[in-house]
Amino acid sequence: MEVLLKVIKNIFCNEEYSEECKKCSLCHLIDINSLPSLKIIEPDGNFIKKDQILELKNLFSKDSQYTKENIYVIKNCEKMNKESANTMLKFLEEPDGNVIGFFITNHQDNVMSTIQSRCQHIDIVFDNDLYEDFNIEEEKYNELKSILDEYLYKIEVDRKELILYNKTYLTGLSKEDIKIFFQILLSIYKGELNRRYGLETRENMYDFLSKSKINNIIKKVNLIIELLKEINYNVNVDLLLDRFVIEMDGINNETL
Ligand SMILES: [Zn+2]
Repeated sequence: MEVLLKVIKNIFCNEEYSEECKKCSLCHLIDINSLPSLKIIEPDGNFIKKDQILELKNLFSKDSQYTKENIYVIKNCEKMNKESANTMLKFLEEPDGNVIGFFITNHQDNVMSTIQSRCQHIDIVFDNDLYEDFNIEEEKYNELKSILDEYLYKIEVDRKELILYNKTYLTGLSKEDIKIFFQILLSIYKGELNRRYGLETRENMYDFLSKSKINNIIKKVNLIIELLKEINYNVNVDLLLDRFVIEMDGINNETL
């Protein structure tokens, strides 16, 4: 929730958003939970009830005078029961005015698939989830890091290289090394993402990343998280690398 509120401020802030925007009334209203065009819904007891969604729909039947869109957040959205989820679905399909909605869950599998399919997914992974420590020797780390630096430059800046050429950096690495390679890469993209959301103040060592589109970075983060999950199973590492280089390239081309 804390992260999301920063994202919302980042989108709607009346000034140039910074972490501690003290200048604009909008960020202030969000901080004190009093922005009329922002509605946060959480379970009433065990469930989010149909009435809560109807009330939201009713509240947002007119355009906002405060922000360009009305904004709602559904906390623990997996707790919508069948009735409320169906009401929500209608609202998603036919909103009355300009509305932007955020659904938060730690149990994505329990969210109705019809709702999931109408949302853009953003995985937020907290630092201690995936890569607590890289847990390798310094020499190994440096070796992987130099491969990674070269790869990152190729994929982000010098995009003319053939994608399969990019793969040659990685072939020959063991499965364990590739895993660490992905983990370091993930931390770099996530660092950039956090910087955009105002959550990271350390300077980026890869300043060329600041030119990438935010959607682009989110997609790469999601891809790498998915590959990291898969590499733990018995997958063919060569196929996984093919997928990696092709999809990374695909993401680059998508939003050009
Ligand atoms: Zn502000």
